Amino acid sequence: MNVRVFFAAPPRMWPAWRGPLERALAAAGVEAVLSAEAPDPAAVDYIVFAPGGVIEDFRPYTSARAVLNLWAGVEAIVGNETLTQPLCRMVDPGLTEGMVDYVAAHVLRHHVGLDAHILGQDGVWRHAAVPPLARDRHVAVLGLGALGRAAAEALRGLGFAVEGWARSARDLDGIVTHAGADGLAALLPRAEIVVLLLPHTSETENLLDARRLALLPRGAVIVNPGRGALIDDAALLDALDRGHIGHATLDVFRTEPLPPAHPFWAHPGVTVTPHIASETRPETSAPVIAENIRRGEAGEPFLHLVDRARGY
Ligand code: NAP
Repeated sequence: MNVRVFFAAPPRMWPAWRGPLERALAAAGVEAVLSAEAPDPAAVDYIVFAPGGVIEDFRPYTSARAVLNLWAGVEAIVGNETLTQPLCRMVDPGLTEGMVDYVAAHVLRHHVGLDAHILGQDGVWRHAAVPPLARDRHVAVLGLGALGRAAAEALRGLGFAVEGWARSARDLDGIVTHAGADGLAALLPRAEIVVLLLPHTSETENLLDARRLALLPRGAVIVNPGRGALIDDAALLDALDRGHIGHATLDVFRTEPLPPAHPFWAHPGVTVTPHIASETRPETSAPVIAENIRRGEAGEPFLHLVDRARGY
């Protein structure tokens, strides 16, 4: 019998996802009926989910074997008390590649000091500011999961002195890693550029608060493609105003779209990018959804299961 897959993401996403999902399911050998129409909930086998779609209450989906989140971040669904089915998040090679590009570009911008030359075409020959070699530039990557690890390794490949931080320390070639609050406190004073690739959980909310921002060296740069709530906005603005933080490149915000009146837009020390660091692209991520459905039907463990207690 055909597997019934309900595309319960916002309806505007359906035209872009339908073809890639149908092709990926066929390639995975899964005979499926894929629908974006609200079907009989009790007849649904798998729910493909993104926030803002049609489902808030998962209880009627009594046969659903898994909820497959299209985004890497799960903060919009992980606390939903009606969700009892396994929840899988998106780990996709395209998402990872896009994030590596974003992080490398923004770290190199600040490392090389591109702004001084791109924005200053004013007839002044600014020859004095020579950047250090990458090997002498300390970069900290907070979060060493699918995205943070790939970003840290790419930065290491460019020659940067990279240190990483996660819940648990790990063995990464050429990258010193730390864990726990003490590990973070030890790492921050060296971090000239900090990249945030952590999930938003109760433990990571306001991780970079006034106290931790003060631990960074004067002029440090923050690149945040993780989640807006990782940083205390008011503390960041204060640290920017005082020149303690040299620049913040922010892709994610507590409220998105970032309201036009928000001080981040006008602050000369902030670059706002509109949550475009990395996109879940249908062509590369539909096979991840299909593989998890194949696994579910074969009785194999799901990939990228979310730990509901940890929140990511
Ligand atoms: P992931 O694989 O789940 O990795 C999360 C990392 O954060 C892990 O290394 C984890 O440590 C660490 N972590 C979590 N809680 C921690 C804590 N309390 N203390 C220390 N470390 C902690 O996630 P991912 O796929 O790399 O994605 C990371 C985040 O990027 C997502 O949650 C999402 O918010 C964001 N994102 C943004 C965009 C964008 O376009 N801006 C796109 C995709 C994703 P352990 O490894 O020790 O568990």
